[in-house]
Amino acid sequence: MKIIIAKNAGFCFGVQRAIDMINELPDKYPDKKIYLFREIIHNPQEVKRLKEKGMHIIYDLNKIENDSIVVVSTHGITPDEQEILKKRKIILLDTTCPYVKKIHNIAEHLTTNNYDILIIGDKHHLEVRGIIGYCRGRSKVASSFSEIKKMKLGNKIGIIAQTTQNIDNYKKIIFNIIDKLFKTKQIEIRIFNTVCDATYNRQKETMRIARKSDIVIIIGGRNSANTKRLYELSKKIQKNVYLVEKPSEIKKKWFKNKKILGISAGASTPHWIIQDVIKKIKELNV
Ligand code: SF4
Repeated sequence: MKIIIAKNAGFCFGVQRAIDMINELPDKYPDKKIYLFREIIHNPQEVKRLKEKGMHIIYDLNKIENDSIVVVSTHGITPDEQEILKKRKIILLDTTCPYVKKIHNIAEHLTTNNYDILIIGDKHHLEVRGIIGYCRGRSKVASSFSEIKKMKLGNKIGIIAQTTQNIDNYKKIIFNIIDKLFKTKQIEIRIFNTVCDATYNRQKETMRIARKSDIVIIIGGRNSANTKRLYELSKKIQKNVYLVEKPSEIKKKWFKNKKILGISAGASTPHWIIQDVIKKIKELNV
């Protein structure tokens, strides 16, 4: 079986940067307790690896001990959470991705200039929760135009997207908003393309591979938004698509009568898992 692997499968720039920073910590601070604030990366196997290195996942900032190290994830945190951490006697390692930081800056700028902010994304996602904090009560979140149709929007609106949104979906929503609102009122809209290049290129490459393959395997955490999106996009192109977190989930029967396998992986999938999955497939002799 021919195997095509997406060039950009696995850690994106932001996650690689964060993991490199985190990996240095145990040697740099051997005597300090290291806390990872919330799930640092949406990949259970990588989180397990970090825990095995002695790091602790924490969800409540009040439970952090003094003189410890606290790591903030690539998704970022709210300004209120930043304030709480600043007041504590700790070492803060902020790995917020620069692309997410840019959205925080846009949100602050829009809020200061009295815009209401429409965030296109998943309101429960950590990145979006952080962004909402920077909007200081002026934001609304939607993932589709049907949700926006029911919303009351002001006359000055700034539109931003969660970094992992599908760009075509984002564009479609924006066109629909303009179509709806320009008919009815005098309005000012500022639109920002905040979908990150890594996401866009990965999605494009995954779809290209899905078109060429008769089976596609997407590797990554089931709790990872960008991994799930790769799965959904591939599924639109062809039906034999599987999302796996680890090699043991691979089933021989998937490969029956298949000739070309396409492999892609989410931005939070470490390369060692991708390699393990490929090894397992090769061992099956399919
Ligand atoms: S997917 Fe994009 S925004 Fe998210 S961490 Fe990676 S580079 Fe940063």
